[in-house]
Amino acid sequence: MLSPLTTGISVGLGATAGLGLVAGGYAYAALWPASQLFGPMLLAPARPGELALTFDDGPNPAWTPRLLEILARREVRATFFLVGSRAQAEPALVRQIVAAGHLIGNHSWSHRNLALAPASRIQEELSRASQTLEQIAQIAGEPIRFFRPPFGARRPETLRAAIRLGMIPVLWNAMTSDWKNPSADAIAQRLMRKIDRLYRLGQAANIVLHDGSHSDPAADRAPSIAAAAQLIARYQPTHQFVTLDAWS
Ligand SMILES: [Zn+2]
Repeated sequence: MLSPLTTGISVGLGATAGLGLVAGGYAYAALWPASQLFGPMLLAPARPGELALTFDDGPNPAWTPRLLEILARREVRATFFLVGSRAQAEPALVRQIVAAGHLIGNHSWSHRNLALAPASRIQEELSRASQTLEQIAQIAGEPIRFFRPPFGARRPETLRAAIRLGMIPVLWNAMTSDWKNPSADAIAQRLMRKIDRLYRLGQAANIVLHDGSHSDPAADRAPSIAAAAQLIARYQPTHQFVTLDAWS
């Protein structure tokens, strides 16, 4: 378990810094060894050709079912980082995601920016989300194992809380601002450039898209869903789609 994590951190952070994938406020963090400041985090291992599609901010009754249809048709499994409060509002949809063979992870209870929250609030945000997801999904004896911090805010206390709850903090190494609603083609093309570059660097790709929105439940996620379909069409013949549990 430590080996892919360690690989992901050392090579992944180097790659993200070099590729400029770490945005603005986080750039300073990439200059520091992750193990010292933040503890273990999963980006992606040195397994070129493996792709993890991850979807954040759902479940979303408008868009998640359409995404599930596409994934089912192409027989691709993905990882969904669910917001606990949204999961509580859409339990049937959470069960549908799990029943289809996808992996679910914790994306906090309310999608609050935990970088600014007191430690007690962080603990509550994470544990409430995990308990809710485990209760709804009724995955027998299987706790939620992966946590992605909202906004990627990697405060040490947030990561410590996740680890205390038995979860592995997960970031990403392939993202574009799909939430700003550019076209599906633009999202897919930007991600393909990143995925192809990671492949050349000998890295798997941990890809973020959004099937929900933390700020606007009515947000149009059609471009993100269509971009996911394009990625699957492009890479399914040559690459392998995995869920994050394949890496730890
Ligand atoms: Zn999010």
